[in-house]
Amino acid sequence: MTGLYQLGEEHEELRAAIRALVDKEIAPHAAAVDEDARFPEEARKALVAADMHAVHIPEFYGGQGADAVAACIVIEEVARACASSSLIPAVNKLGTVPLLLSASEELKSQVLPGIAKGEMASYALSEREAGSDTASMRTRARLDGDHWVLNGTKAWITNAGESTWYTVMAVTDPNAAKPANGISAFVVHKDDPGFSVGPKERKLGIKGSPTREIHFEDCTIPADRIVGEPGTGLKTALATLDHTRPTIGAQAVGIAQGALEASIAYVKERKQFGKAIAEFQGLQFMLADMGMKVEAARHLVYAAAAKAERGDPGAGFTASAAKTFASDTAMQVTTDAVQLFGGAGYTRDFPVERMMRDAKITQIYEGTNQIQRVVMARQLLKG
Ligand SMILES: Cc1cc2nc3c(=O)[nH]c(=O)nc-3n(C[C@H](O)[C@H](O)[C@H](O)COP(=O)(O)OP(=O)(O)OC[C@H]3O[C@@H](n4cnc5c(N)ncnc54)[C@H](O)[C@@H]3O)c2cc1C
Repeated sequence: MTGLYQLGEEHEELRAAIRALVDKEIAPHAAAVDEDARFPEEARKALVAADMHAVHIPEFYGGQGADAVAACIVIEEVARACASSSLIPAVNKLGTVPLLLSASEELKSQVLPGIAKGEMASYALSEREAGSDTASMRTRARLDGDHWVLNGTKAWITNAGESTWYTVMAVTDPNAAKPANGISAFVVHKDDPGFSVGPKERKLGIKGSPTREIHFEDCTIPADRIVGEPGTGLKTALATLDHTRPTIGAQAVGIAQGALEASIAYVKERKQFGKAIAEFQGLQFMLADMGMKVEAARHLVYAAAAKAERGDPGAGFTASAAKTFASDTAMQVTTDAVQLFGGAGYTRDFPVERMMRDAKITQIYEGTNQIQRVVMARQLLKG
């Protein structure tokens, strides 16, 4: 039966299109972007020119209106060559889903058309002292006449300095009975008075994607830049993650796929003991395990993305499961890839050490894999 439990033609055509673009415009720069820890400008230009930088933006706002599985395919295919570049479509989605879920029509119309045209968005939830424990954040926003005034610092903000718009969660009611209910979400523009970005973090991987603190010093924004009602910001921020954890899973699947393909090519070429090392059954079994895990992770990621899009009640569990399984898979597969390359794998002459360094972050951001297990266990025990 055609079409039974498989991606449709449109998704496969999209994969072919984005893969061709990545091979031509993004892959050739991936090593240099990592080596020089520079923003992948070539990737941004190519993705924007092909309307692949934020495919999830609805057509009403000038976007592609692509579904959640399509967004995952784009991110996966970019990550297969360059994880840093895959954070352009991934974080454009992360920064804008809070608006799509909760913002007024006016605010959506103010922000989303620019993103559809190529501006970038970031998502600012974390602080130095409020990482896994998001509700303990200290950044404050107070209403002053027809403006909100923000003060504080957000940490670890992906693509900060490159983005035009920042979705920022801040405390508006410090006396709320539950701290989580005293947090609101706002959209801040890079040129708003009192907004600034800090220096780039020096990181293990995803070196082409800038990660910075962002500072608010009496940062003043119009009153209508609040996303939804006061006090709903953390709910919106966490609901967003149900939609975007699958995209981190997609990034992880892409990194793992890239490492698997590089490994297959290498073991066929490399000779020891008078034959290709691909002939050693010990290595064949490693490859089989790598391929098996990547395939399983990919299915889980697409299922999670689809569940989030459908509003399935089990979407939160599956989003966490997909992110965790795929990121653990990426770490295992890339580590095994380095092993299959032997000494060569440990050098920058081959891409697998970069992929291993890039894979690590997928186990940490958008909630560590420990926090994902907390989320999953809570769901299971609730029944
Ligand atoms: C490169 C990079 C990019 C990032 N991008 C963004 C971004 O764009 N926007 C944004 O808002 N944030 C971003 N983050 C922040 C990221 O989401 C946090 O680093 C992450 O949520 C963990 O918080 P933390 O670093 O404070 O670790 P901590 O919360 O201090 O955790 C330390 C350790 O304790 C464990 N732990 C904590 N609580 C529990 C618990 N209850 N049970 C079991 N174990 C626990 C954690 O799993 C971890 O192993 C980024 C981080 C990095 C490194």
